[in-house]
Order: sequence, then C-alpha cells, then structure tokens
Amino acid sequence: MILKITMKKLHDFFIKLERQLFNEKWIGSPEYEVIRFTAIYLIVGLLWITTSDDLLAMMVKDFDLLVEFQTAKGWFYVFASAILFASILGVRLRRNKQLNDRILYQQSHDELTQLPNRRRLSEIIDKRIEKNPNLAFALISLDIDDFATINELLGYSIGDALLIDLTKDLSQRLGSMDTLSRSGTGFIITYDLSERNQIQLNQSLNGLLSLISQERILEGQSIFITSSIGVSLYPKDGQRFDDLFKAADTAMHHLKGISKNSYNFYTEDYHNQRMDRIRMVNELRKALENKELYLVYQAVVDMRNDELLGYEALLRWDSKVLGKVSPDVFIHVAETTNLISTLEEYVFEQCFHEIKVQAQNGVDLMLSINLSSKGLVDISFIHTIERLLKNAKISTTNVQIEITETAIIENFDLAKRNLMRLKQLGFTIALDDFGTGYSSLTYLHQLPIDTMKIDRTFALQKGQGKQQEILSSIIDLGHKLKLKIIAEGIETEVQKQFFIELGCHYGQGYHFGKPNTLNEVIKKD
Ligand code: C2E
Ligand code: CA
Ligand code: CA
Repeated sequence: MILKITMKKLHDFFIKLERQLFNEKWIGSPEYEVIRFTAIYLIVGLLWITTSDDLLAMMVKDFDLLVEFQTAKGWFYVFASAILFASILGVRLRRNKQLNDRILYQQSHDELTQLPNRRRLSEIIDKRIEKNPNLAFALISLDIDDFATINELLGYSIGDALLIDLTKDLSQRLGSMDTLSRSGTGFIITYDLSERNQIQLNQSLNGLLSLISQERILEGQSIFITSSIGVSLYPKDGQRFDDLFKAADTAMHHLKGISKNSYNFYTEDYHNQRMDRIRMVNELRKALENKELYLVYQAVVDMRNDELLGYEALLRWDSKVLGKVSPDVFIHVAETTNLISTLEEYVFEQCFHEIKVQAQNGVDLMLSINLSSKGLVDISFIHTIERLLKNAKISTTNVQIEITETAIIENFDLAKRNLMRLKQLGFTIALDDFGTGYSSLTYLHQLPIDTMKIDRTFALQKGQGKQQEILSSIIDLGHKLKLKIIAEGIETEVQKQFFIELGCHYGQGYHFGKPNTLNEVIKKD
C-alpha cells in the first residue's frame, strides 16, 4: 500500500516536472514518446550497471555464490526488459486498435441512430452477393415525406427524436435476414426473399407504410408523418448495391411526384425516362447560349368588340438535338432543377425590352408574363425582376404577371409577401388556370389579384351539368371581387358567345389568334 502511494506520488511528480520542462504541444507526440522511453530505459540501465554489482557484493560475501548471482542478475535484466517491452507494446497496440475500431465504426454508422450508413450497407450487400450470387432480396428506399418541413416547423430535436423512434419501430418489424440502415431523410432496408414471396413483400410494404403513419408523441407533441417507398429487386434490377439503390430511389422519386404514403416498384421505363430527363436538363442548360429559346405572343381580347387588350408571352424551345419541346414539358423540368430562374430571367428581360422598343415606335404594348411557383416564392428572383425593371425603364402598368395557385397554397405567407412587393412595383397580377387546382376561394380576397384566367378545360366542357354551375359561381365570385375575368382556350364562335352570356367578357384562344412572333401578331392586329 505504502509502495503504491509512493509510486503514485513519484509518477505525479515526474508528470509535473515533465510539463514544466517541455512544451505542452510536444508532450505526447510520437517523437517525444520514443525519446522519453529511450531516456528512461537508458537511465534505469545506467543505474543498474553502476549500482547493482556493488550492491550484490555488499550482500553476498561468498565468491562462488557471487559469480552465480551475477549471471542470474544478467538473466534477470534480460527477462525484466523483455516483459517490460512486451507489456508496453501490448498496451499501446490495444489502445491503437480500440481507436481504429472506433474511427471505423464512426465512419460506417449513423451517429444519431447507430445504424449502419449507406456505405457500410453497400459493403455488406456486395460481399453477400459475391459470396452467394443466388440470393433473392428486395432493396427498399424509404423516405419520410416532407422531413425538411418537420425540422423547420417543429425543430431539429423533434426531427432527431422522430428518426430514433422510427429506427426502434423498424428494427422490431424486420427479420434476422433483413438489414436496416439510415440514409438522408429516410432509411434503406434489404428485405430477404429467399423464403418469402411477392405477396408477403407487398404485405410488408403496406405494413411499413402504416407503421410509419401511426401517431407518435414526441417531446409532448402529437405527430403524424407519412413515407414514400421505392423498391428494387435483386437480381432483376441490378447486380450491385449501387445499382439497386439507384433503382429503388428512382422508383421512390417517381412516386413522390404523383402521390405520397405509398410504395412503387422500379421498372425499366424509369431508367429510360431518367436518361431522357438528364439529357433534357443538359440540353436546356445550353439552350439560352445556343439561342434556341424565343418568345411567342398570343392575343387577349375583349370578346364583346374584339378589341385587343394585350398579349401573353409564351416561351418556346426549338432544340437542335431534341427538336421542338413542349413548354409544358421543359418548364416542368426547369422547375425541378434551378434552371427555371435563368429561363424566367430571359423571359422578363425580353418582354421588358419589347415593351421599350414598341414604346419608342409609339406602340403601347401590354404584355402578360408567366411566373412559375418557384419564382414566386424566390425572393432573389423578385429582386431580379426589380433589377431588370430598373434597367429597362418601362412602366409597370404595361405588364401583367400570371401566377398559379400551387405556390400560393404551398407557401401562402411568402407568396403573399412577394405578390405584395410585385403589386407595389405597379404590376398587375393574374391568377392563371383558375378552376383546375384547389380553387380555394377563401384566400382570393386576401391577395392583391386583379385578373382571373379561367382554365381552358371549361371552354372544352362548356355547358355540361356540374361544370356549368362551377363556372357560373367562379364568374360570380370574380365579379364580386371586382376581377377582370379572362376565358382561356376559346377556339370557336360558339364558345365565345357562351362565355359572353355568362358575363365573362375577355378571352384568349386560337379563335382570336395562335401564339406567334411579335412582328406577326402585331401585323395581324
Ligand atoms: P398557360 O400559361 O396556361 O398558357 C396557355 C397555353 O394554352 C399555351 O400553351 C397556349 O399556346 C395554349 N393555348 C392558347 N390558346 C389555345 C386554344 O385555343 N386551344 C388550345 N388547345 N390551347 C391554347 P403553351 O404555349 O404550350 O404553354 C403551356 C404552358 O407552359 C403555359 O400554360 C405555361 O404554364 C407554361 N409556360 C409557357 N411559357 C412560360 C414562361 O415563359 N414561363 C413560365 N413560368 N411558364 C410558361
Ligand atoms: Ca399563362
Ligand atoms: Ca392558363
């Protein structure tokens, strides 16, 4: 006991001395450790050599015995050194291994849920496939719907708690041959199919959906979430983890565009669609530079006297590689990448320019410009419009901006704020395609809207039962809110008369003119 305390005190003394003598940064470095160890060994060795013979001679008087002890002393020194080296090496190697294991674990596991991450799962699955290529399993990419919104609205700690809770539930649900791993805003699951069939897989997928969508109480709050699941099958959809994951993820993203809280299996078509889309995005990126984009203009008229109100600017893409691409297609593709702001900047700039040029020729050109839902909630794009306006020095009373309900519904406050700003700048605001989306009448009076454009489906189905009633009430509402009402897609005189009778006085459609270049439409009118 006394020896232990003395040793401890000595140890502390030397550590203190060491700290005073040497730089803190240097202590603990590999070079320092080597020098320290060698120095201790040399000092102990020197003390041993200089003192041990004299001590032994003092204790042993018999000469023969002394010689024997001296030999034993030599052996003792060799063995003691060997044991010392072995134990020091053992401690160091064990410590290194623990450290390495910890780093490896951290690199291959998700810190929050402790589940293997995608990279680790990829190693596990590829190794399994290599060992037994006759496996059968499904790879499930499960994504939590609107997870970013949960984090934003309820806070990151609830987001984290949610992931932990889901991990617990999912782990309990899966069998011993299945694996669970975390990836981004969801999970990747491999579901063994060696002893299960397709029906059981479908049942399990439904089970997963309802498991996820059940009520959860987290930090005292009741939370309901849903998930979207994409599924790929080994070996049909891929021979390696990466391909299987890509396929399942594609199926999942494809599904998200249509509906949530359901599952979807990968098919070969998705691959082709994906490749087409990638090609289209690449071509669209170059379209502006290659001058493949241009605007056409379509007249909007007062149907009572065929007087011209102005034109709607519509974007066209004549691609050298893909040919003419419908705006319904490329605008949607642009909206899902960040290309839309580049395209819309071009449209606004071009329209402002045309208004300016026409004004110089004494023509008061009124243009209506489409603004995507992405653009409406993007404050930096609103600033872009302001900049373009400043440069062009035109009057905003010549410009109407067409927006759709999507942006308003998804992000009401932001959309409203940006609309107010546009209105402040003097633009007229039109609500496009009215009657197709939510057509929520409650928000209309809260927004600075001047014009309502009735979607062309109403022109197509004129006078048919319920549609007629809906149309009448839309027009009534428009009048009550003092909006200018424009009927879209008027192709015939009959359709024109039909709308006039309902009290909708303005119209747009092939009957009055197809979209064409500005020179052509102005010449005609
Ligand atoms: P939209 O804003 O509803 O534009 C009206 C669409 O109806 C245009 O199709 C126009 O050519 C078409 N149309 C006009 N009259 C008739 C008619 O009598 N019958 C029929 N069947 N169709 C008619 P387009 O040019 O193919 O544009 C499709 C959509 O693409 C537009 O729908 C708009 O949502 C979008 N779009 C076009 N240009 C732009 C743009 O510059 N920016 C944005 N954000 N979207 C644009
Ligand atoms: Ca429009
Ligand atoms: Ca429209």
